[in-house]
Amino acid sequence: MKFYSTNNKTLAVSFKDAVFNSLPADKGLYMPEQIPQLDPLFIKNIQQYSLQEIALEVASTLLGNDIPKPDLKKIVDDAINFEAPVKFLNNSTAVLELFHGPSYAFKDFGARFMSRIMAYFSKSDDKLLDVLVATSGDTGGAVALGFLGVEGTRVTILYPKGKVSEVQELQLTTNGQNIRALEVDGTFDDCQALVKQAFNDAELNQTLRLTSANSINIARLIPQTFYYFYAYAQLRSQGINEVVFTVPSGNFGNIGAGLLAYKMGLPVKHFVAATNVNDTVSRFLSSGQYAPKPSIQTLSNAMDVGDPSNWVRIQDLFAGNLAELKAMLSSYTFTDEETKAGMDRLVQDANYIACPHTAIAWLGAQAYANDHPGTYASVFLSTAHPCKFPDAIDADVFAKIVLPAGAEALQGKEKLAEPLAVNFEAFKRYLINHN
Ligand SMILES: *Cc1c(COP(=O)(O)O)cnc(C)c1O
Repeated sequence: MKFYSTNNKTLAVSFKDAVFNSLPADKGLYMPEQIPQLDPLFIKNIQQYSLQEIALEVASTLLGNDIPKPDLKKIVDDAINFEAPVKFLNNSTAVLELFHGPSYAFKDFGARFMSRIMAYFSKSDDKLLDVLVATSGDTGGAVALGFLGVEGTRVTILYPKGKVSEVQELQLTTNGQNIRALEVDGTFDDCQALVKQAFNDAELNQTLRLTSANSINIARLIPQTFYYFYAYAQLRSQGINEVVFTVPSGNFGNIGAGLLAYKMGLPVKHFVAATNVNDTVSRFLSSGQYAPKPSIQTLSNAMDVGDPSNWVRIQDLFAGNLAELKAMLSSYTFTDEETKAGMDRLVQDANYIACPHTAIAWLGAQAYANDHPGTYASVFLSTAHPCKFPDAIDADVFAKIVLPAGAEALQGKEKLAEPLAVNFEAFKRYLINHN
């Protein structure tokens, strides 16, 4: 499969080039040249297959001969080594839990798959692959744990001091091995600016083989399609054929992958993008005008995005056909107060403790069901385990959270981060002196 830039369809590159460059020079995003269809017989019998089997079928349909199937199977089995269960809260509403990977967030799917793809394509290089990543919390943990112990790679994570939760910081800073954490005395934007500058620095690029673990990398998008197919398989095994997915959305990568799965032949009735007050897409769907705004800080901070990068991919999938897009996609937005009330109601009504992002998805699913009653299963995506967001959850509820086994073990580990000022020369010196 070749990948084109959403800004220039005549520029087609190999999967490997799209993975290592992340962004085409024209600042579009990479998309597959054609959207291949999954074998209808596979979809007909999909309830027979495991998550790993589905992942292999979807990945090989998308990638064609780019990676021989036995190699792709190894990558998939190694990357997707945790479950994604659909759990019904009542007769019609279910949650698809995507937080059973090592960082307790859905970003594990993307980060683990991408790390193994990068390692696969780097096998014959003798220079270490240096992955630089800035994080506001969830991305860094997924990337750190995704690349941990992956041969031929080294990860440097920049995170803003005092601005990530305890579990997030422990996931970033206690790994050792090929993972290094820099605690930046600044904001997430400062971290991002330092990483950007590194990619533009000639000397650094000569000395090191730099690559980004950017969330818009095509190798992060592809594995996010797997769990939509797998959720559908789980519904089918219960005799359910019709599904509406509600996705808590920020940069719109997750829901973009869902729409890609739909275009590859997954039967889906509708998608709902649930957002916080960063409502650019919601305003677009009602006005037809794409008018991004600076991001606003909310409780669901992993979705504080005012200009979602992956939106161009969704427009590309629908070839700019607004009517067709609106038939498949609705959006609802919620304030922090509504999010809090949603978290409370989920505990009261369903005895389900959700992170704020997940609560927004549930609210979106409720809102859509109110506007469009029907017999479909309403499946909302849970993107993170609630233990990652202590500041957003009432203390008495938080105390009742059953920690995943690994989160308990994290508490006793030593923090290994090095402090860094917001100073590019200092960052550059660190990278060169610690090579
Ligand atoms: C990253 C993230 C999101 C947003 O996903 P997008 O793909 O950027 O839309 C939602 N919830 C959590 C917990 C996240 O970490």
